[in-house]
Amino acid sequence: MITKEDWRYINGERLKGREFVFKEYKPINDDNDHDHCSFCWAKLSLTINDALKEGYQTILEPIFWKGKERKRDEWVCSECFKDFQDILGLKIKDSE
Ligand SMILES: [Zn+2]
Repeated sequence: MITKEDWRYINGERLKGREFVFKEYKPINDDNDHDHCSFCWAKLSLTINDALKEGYQTILEPIFWKGKERKRDEWVCSECFKDFQDILGLKIKDSE
C-alpha cells in the first residue's frame, strides 16, 4: 500500500487532482527529446534506448521563457500513476 511516506510522493504531490491522458510519448517542445516521470524520474523518450515510450501526460499552463511562450507538460509512468491515482486523486481524461 502506497502512503505519503513513499519516496516518490513528494515529487508528484503538486499534480494532485490533475487530469491525464494516456498516450504515446511525444515531446511538447521541439527542442526536447525526453521527459521524466514526475514521481520516479523514469525516462520517457522515443530516441533513447530502454526509455518508456508511453505514459500519462497532463498539460500545464504555458510559461514565458527568454521572451518566448514555452509549452509545459508533465509525464507520469504507468506504474506511478497506478500507485498514486487514489491517494492524489489523479484523473484520466478520455481525449484531449
Ligand atoms: Zn514513475
